[in-house]
Amino acid sequence: MANQTYTMTINGKAVAGGETFGVENPATGQVFAQAPDCSKAELDAAVASARAAFPAWKATPIAKRRELLNAMAGVIMQNLPELSRLLTREQGKPHPDAEGDVGGGAFWLMESAKHEIPEHVSEDSAERHAVTRYGPIGVVAAIVPWNFPIILAAFKLGPALLAGNTVVLKPAPTTPLTTLRIGELLRGVLPDGVLNVVSGSDRLGPWLTAHPGIDKVSFTGSTQTGKKVMESAAHSLKRVTLELGGNDPAIVMPDVDVKKVAEDLFWAAFRNTGQICIATKRMYIHKDVYEPLKAAIVEYAATVKVGDGAEQGTQIGPIQNSAQYKRVLELIQDAKDNGYKFLIGGDEAKVPGYFVPITILDNPPENARIVQEEQFGPVLPLLKFDNLDEVVGRANDSEYGLGASIWTSDIERAQDIATRLQAGTVWINESQHLSPHAAFGGFKQSGIGVEGGPEGVLEFCQAQTVFTRKPATA
Ligand code: NAD
Repeated sequence: MANQTYTMTINGKAVAGGETFGVENPATGQVFAQAPDCSKAELDAAVASARAAFPAWKATPIAKRRELLNAMAGVIMQNLPELSRLLTREQGKPHPDAEGDVGGGAFWLMESAKHEIPEHVSEDSAERHAVTRYGPIGVVAAIVPWNFPIILAAFKLGPALLAGNTVVLKPAPTTPLTTLRIGELLRGVLPDGVLNVVSGSDRLGPWLTAHPGIDKVSFTGSTQTGKKVMESAAHSLKRVTLELGGNDPAIVMPDVDVKKVAEDLFWAAFRNTGQICIATKRMYIHKDVYEPLKAAIVEYAATVKVGDGAEQGTQIGPIQNSAQYKRVLELIQDAKDNGYKFLIGGDEAKVPGYFVPITILDNPPENARIVQEEQFGPVLPLLKFDNLDEVVGRANDSEYGLGASIWTSDIERAQDIATRLQAGTVWINESQHLSPHAAFGGFKQSGIGVEGGPEGVLEFCQAQTVFTRKPATA
């Protein structure tokens, strides 16, 4: 249906919004639907309903909250075909990947429901009993980017709701629809006000982080925006968790089986059109295997189908939005202007939509923009290294510290290299695997705090210690 309209969910009810904005299909550049552009008054209503719902939700037994998280996952899975088709249309990713994003979100909700909220007795002596308990913080603003709209929302919703918080969820302006639709489908599953879903143009994020009714901001997005979020949250000392950008290095040692790793290395960089915070964005290859591995990666790249994510067989979709498309083209142009060598790609696709061909660069200098900056697109620099100390130094020489990967048959050595890397997650002979049961977060300017694991649940809790003096015994 052309220009279908989706509604926000505020206090369990549909809110169409006084104003709307268009949502494009990045494979065509055409607007195909309208999303509500949340007004200040509508945001106030969403925050007020989350505040009103908080006491009862906090008091709800955790077993019931677990049950409702599982019910949410069930509703999402029942609607997987519709939701993943919609996600491909607004986000651009190939349909199987959209199913992975939506299905992964449901999985995350179910797994988050299994976490325990700890209680810690630090003293139980003749004089005193001391216990630290973890309760919810209040109303959480969950702010999500456009690369994985559903699974990244679930990273926040699962632990926040489990811990007894209520939520105002805001998707990115270029990918609001699947999240709005999930809000519509979940009405009646959760008590009214526990989960509010609002969408809006660029004005909405800053309103949300500055709102006095918000107690905690859980933000995923760029480092640049993360700094603004922290600044805005500082006014009322809102708690923040920031999951930000990355410039992940892969370190490929000389003992790899070139034929075996080429395909995995390719996807480490190009899955989701390179638009992953933990995509490999710099690939350091030991000089002894540089030439054969370069040839194998480029040979594989030439077989990969780039196209509309809705078409069967598409493996890489368009860039998600015009701003990011321009940024990626600018980095390619910079590489051209500096005379760096392209192994594949580098030309404009010259088709409608935001398509950039798979682009691989041959050993540009370390200070090249494409090496130093987060490209967040299908462009990868291959870089040659000589020895381990040198490559560890180059890998760590970044303001980011999100992820890193090591590719080798010497696992013991890889474990040692891992301890030397300044990255919140290190993979050995794989990349991008995350678990609801393991902490994920960034070093340096890649973030503050973590998602996932018991530590991720505690980010949505505040500690309260109760000291009880025991009566003196005669
Ligand atoms: P972005 O920072 O532009 O936007 C992220 C979200 O913040 C969107 O919902 C946006 O509307 C909102 N926003 C924008 N300005 C705001 C403001 N001033 N106050 C509050 N909210 C605001 O990021 P993006 O371009 O959507 O996403 C790409 C970036 O996200 C990349 O840098 C990527 O590495 C990062 N990312 C990080 C992780 C992680 O877990 N570390 C995961 C995915 C993406």
